[in-house]
Amino acid sequence: MAKPIKKITILGATGYIGRNALDVITRYPRKFSVFGLSANKNISLFKQQIIQYSPKVVAVADEKNADEIARLFPKLKVYKGEKGLVKMASLTDAHMVVSAIVGAAGLMPTLAAINAGRHIALANKETLVIAGDLVMRRAKKNNINILPIDSEHNALFQLLQLKQKRHIRKLIITASGGPFFGKSPSQLKKVTVKNALAHPTWSMGNKITIDSSTMMNKGFEVIEAHHLFDISYDNIEVVVHPESTVHSMIESANGDVFAQLGPADMRFPILSALSYPEIIDNTLPRIKISQISQLTFYEPDYTTFPLLTMAYDAGRRGHCFPAVLNAANEIAVNAFLEERLSYLGITQTVKSVMDKFKNHKKVRVTLDAILTADTWARQTAEKLITTKKK
Ligand code: NAD
Ligand code: MG
Repeated sequence: MAKPIKKITILGATGYIGRNALDVITRYPRKFSVFGLSANKNISLFKQQIIQYSPKVVAVADEKNADEIARLFPKLKVYKGEKGLVKMASLTDAHMVVSAIVGAAGLMPTLAAINAGRHIALANKETLVIAGDLVMRRAKKNNINILPIDSEHNALFQLLQLKQKRHIRKLIITASGGPFFGKSPSQLKKVTVKNALAHPTWSMGNKITIDSSTMMNKGFEVIEAHHLFDISYDNIEVVVHPESTVHSMIESANGDVFAQLGPADMRFPILSALSYPEIIDNTLPRIKISQISQLTFYEPDYTTFPLLTMAYDAGRRGHCFPAVLNAANEIAVNAFLEERLSYLGITQTVKSVMDKFKNHKKVRVTLDAILTADTWARQTAEKLITTKKK
């Protein structure tokens, strides 16, 4: 008997991942259909998406834009604002929810989808950075899968299916190194927004592109891997691999290393996450092994990119530290993109906020504690940036 078509909701449909997820869904009309879509500010693209993909429901985080969409599509169910986003994410008509909003704004709708028992295809790594323990506990309780879209974690997820957990010694996450691989700290003093947005191998949304250039993205991915695969930080290693062909590796007890290779095309991990547990024939251009002339690997430069060390540290400390790290970083990256903060100011701001944070001594971290720490970190970072400017 043919399997039913999977109805899919995409949170963050107008973003880079959202658009690629829509591309994948429409390539396989007998496997997937669009149920719900969400957007925030990019309303002109969202109008086109509604016409092209005919979602059954939509949510628009920005309330003014939500009113406009409701006016233009009077027959369509339009959920409004942050609350509306959470409501749409909880609708049980969708088999799976693609979590592709950028930043902490993705946390509450993703949690809502988990609470409603929906499977998650997770791009929004911030959800696990901020509240990894809590999110994974709820996912387990509700018996749902969190299928990583992040290319490294999708690679690890697939590799780990080949081995029993007790035989795994190490996860090795690859990093492209970003545009500033091989640079010294003094060479980063004059970096402009344009320099930092010029990623050598991946094209992505602005925030993650800046995070890739500072290696914060890799730090977040270490925390993400810790939660997804329940592996200690001591057993998660990062290697720089500028070709971005090996997406990650696992090392087993007997010393064998297994790698996953593929093109730098997010539609591969998206298809893998959406179709799980099925494996679907992918019609996109594949890598040709005989055309790969070299694969190189290097130790990360922890001196030039201290945010990577800070992420390991925040992850090991746990509690609200990773949420503070993420919130301070979001504010600093945003200020850099708006040219209110220098490039090295991103690291300085995050470090100062982390140094100021005093953790409460709770054993179990609640959502309230996390949200309070997140707000505190945002305000503290913003204050540091504005006083520095004066
Ligand atoms: P993007 O900036 O292109 O898109 C962001 C999406 O989030 C947009 O649809 C936007 O409308 C929505 N959004 C932004 N702020 C919002 C808010 N306050 N409320 C509701 N919606 C909001 O980003 P992207 O590159 O697609 O990345 C999305 C997520 O996927 C990030 O968490 C990123 O780390 C992760 N990710 C991206 C890639 C990639 O290749 N782009 C790879 C791995 C993981
Ligand atoms: Mg990644």
